Amino acid sequence: MNSSDRSVHAVRLPQAWSPTSWRERVALQLPQYPDAGELESALAELRGLPPLVTSWEILTLKQQLAEAQEGRRFVLQGGDCAESFAECTSDVISNRLKVLLQMSLVLVHGLRKPVVRIGRFAGQYAKPRSTDLETIDGVSLPSYRGDMVNGPAFTAEARRPDPRRMIKAHARSAMTMNFVRALIDGGFADLHHPEYWNLSWVGHSPLAEEYGRMVAAIGDAVRFMETLSGAEVHNLNRVDFYTSHEALLLPYEESMTRQVPRHWGWFNLSTHFPWIGMRTAAVDGAHAEYFRGIRNPIGIKVGPTVAPDQLLRVMDLLNPDDEPGRLTFIHRMGAAHIADKLPPLLDAVRRDGRRVLWICDPMHGNTESTANGYKTRRFANIGRELELAFELHAAAGTRLGGAHLELTGEDVTECLGGARELREADLERAYRTCVDPRLNYEQALEAAMLIVRKQSQ
Ligand code: PEP
Ligand code: MN
Repeated sequence: MNSSDRSVHAVRLPQAWSPTSWRERVALQLPQYPDAGELESALAELRGLPPLVTSWEILTLKQQLAEAQEGRRFVLQGGDCAESFAECTSDVISNRLKVLLQMSLVLVHGLRKPVVRIGRFAGQYAKPRSTDLETIDGVSLPSYRGDMVNGPAFTAEARRPDPRRMIKAHARSAMTMNFVRALIDGGFADLHHPEYWNLSWVGHSPLAEEYGRMVAAIGDAVRFMETLSGAEVHNLNRVDFYTSHEALLLPYEESMTRQVPRHWGWFNLSTHFPWIGMRTAAVDGAHAEYFRGIRNPIGIKVGPTVAPDQLLRVMDLLNPDDEPGRLTFIHRMGAAHIADKLPPLLDAVRRDGRRVLWICDPMHGNTESTANGYKTRRFANIGRELELAFELHAAAGTRLGGAHLELTGEDVTECLGGARELREADLERAYRTCVDPRLNYEQALEAAMLIVRKQSQ
C-alpha cells in the first residue's frame, strides 16, 4: 500500500460508485444476450483471468498525457476501427506496429518532442452501430457489433450475441499485447535500425524519398551522439507503447475492473486508455457512470452536436479534481463542420481553466458512401480537418496535443486520395475493413508528415 497515495485521494473517491453502478443507468449500444446464465458464467470466468496491463503502466501513461496537456509531448493514437479475431496474426500485428513506429519517428523528428504512442489494439473488438438491425433483401438480423459480441457473417447464428466471445477477445488481446511487448523488448523498435520497420509490400512509394532522407538524418544524429559520448545512446533501443479501445461493452469492462495491492481505487486493467464513443457519451448514461470511478486516463469523443455546457458537465463528472492527464477530449467534427463547431467548445474550456488534452480524430466526421456502395473517406478531407484543427486551436489559445487515426499496415484501398491518388474504382481492389475505412501505410505516413508541416509553420 502506498500510504501517501491513499491519504491524498481517499477522501475524494467518488461516492456511491462501484464497478457495477453503471447497471442503474441507461446503457446504450449493449447487446441483448439471450441467456442470462451463459452471460454470468462468462463474466465469472473473466473475473478470474489475469489483467492485460498494470496499474503502474496506467499511471505512467497518465503522467505522460499530463505532459502532453502542457505541450511537452504529442500523442499519436492509431489502429483499426475494429480488430477482428481472424486478423490476430503475426503479420497484421507487426505491420501495424511498423506503421505506428514510422509515423512516430516522423513526428519526433519534425516536432522535436517526445511522442506518446497509443495503439487502438489489444481490445478494440466492440463496435457501436447506428442501427440495431441490418436488413438485406428483406431479411433483418441484429447488426454486427464487433467480434467480441457477434460475428460479421449475415446469418442468424453469427449475429446471435455470444458471451463466450468476450473470453476469446480477452485471449486475443493478451496474445496481441504479448507479441507487441516481445517485439519491443527484443529490439524491434531500435532507433539504430529503422529499416526493420519497412513494409515488404510498399515498393516504390512517392513518399519513400522524404522518409528515407529523414531516417538517414536520424541515423547520422544517433551515430554522432554515440561518437561524442563513446557509448550507445541510452534508451534508443526501446519505446513505450500503450493500448486503448472504446470501452463500449460494459459487462466486459466491469469484469476487468480491479483493485491492486499498491495503489488505491479501481483500475480498468484491460487497457491503459479506454475511451467513450460518441454514441454513448451522455453525461447521465451508463458509460459515463462507469468511467467516473476508474483511475485510468480516459478519453471521450466529442462530436458536432455537443454544446459547450455539456462539455463542462463532462469535466465536472469525469475529472472533478482537475487531475493532470486524466481527461482527453477527442474531437471528431468533419472537415465541413469543424470551423463552426469547435471554437465555442475551445472557448468554453479555456475560460473554465481546468485541464484537458485535446486530440483530433479527423476520420469519423468524414465518412461517406461512394456511388458503387463503399463506405470511404477522402484523404483531402482528413488532411483538411487536421489542418483546421491546428489553426482553430492556435486562434483559440488552446493546444492540439495529438491525433487519433484509423489505419493499418496492410495494403488496403479503403480511403480515397493520398500520394497515390486512390480513386473510387480502386476501392474494390483491397477493401477489407469490417467496419470503417482505414488509412493504408502511405496515407498514414502522409498524415504524419502533414502534421509536422502544419506544426512547424
Ligand atoms: C470509432 O472510433 O471507431 C468510433 C465509432 O468513433 P465515434 O464514437 O467517434 O463515432
Ligand atoms: Mn471507426
